[in-house]
Amino acid sequence: MQQEQTFVMVKPDGVRRGLVGAVIVRFEQKGFKLAAIELRTIDRALAERHYGDLRTKPFFSELVDYLTSGPVCAMIWQGEHAVENARSLIGKTNPAEASPGTIRGDFAMDIAGNIVHGSDSAASAAREIELFFGRHAASHPLDLFAGDEVSHG
Ligand code: GDP
Ligand code: MG
Repeated sequence: MQQEQTFVMVKPDGVRRGLVGAVIVRFEQKGFKLAAIELRTIDRALAERHYGDLRTKPFFSELVDYLTSGPVCAMIWQGEHAVENARSLIGKTNPAEASPGTIRGDFAMDIAGNIVHGSDSAASAAREIELFFGRHAASHPLDLFAGDEVSHG
C-alpha cells in the first residue's frame, strides 16, 4: 500500500469553535494515521509563506489576518492517497457549496471561515510539512504501525 503524507490544519475559527476533536475523529474514522500534531500561534511571515501562491489575491491580507487571529492545530496525516483523500474529506473551498458529510459542508457557511486547510498536491504537502514541522519531518512517511493492517473499526 502506497503511503503518503499530507498537511492538515484546523484554522483559528475551527480551534475557537472547539472543532479540533471533530476534525481528528473524521480523519481517524476514514483510516488515516496521525503522524504529528501541534497547537501553535503562527506569525504573519509564516502565514504569508504558507499562502504564498495567493499573494496577489484581493483577500490576501484578510486571509493572513484570519490565519494569525488565534492558535491553529497543525497536523500531518498519513495514509493511502492521503492528499486527495484529505481534500475530499474537507470539501469545497466555499463551505456554502461543500457537500454535507464533508468537514466544511457540515461545520461552516462562510468562505472567510472555512475551518480547515488541506494540502492541494504532494508537492504542496511536502512544502507545508517542512514549513510547519521542519525539514526532518518532510523526508518520508513514517513506519507508524509496521506489520499492522489498518483497521477501520
Ligand atoms: P483551499 O485550498 O480549498 O483552502 O482554497 P484556496 O487555496 O483557493 O484558498 C485558501 C484559503 O483562502 C481558503 O481556504 C479560504 O480560507 C481563503 N479564501 C479563498 N477564497 C477567499 C475569498 O474569496 N475571500 C476570503 N476572505 N478568503 C478566501
Ligand atoms: Mg489551497
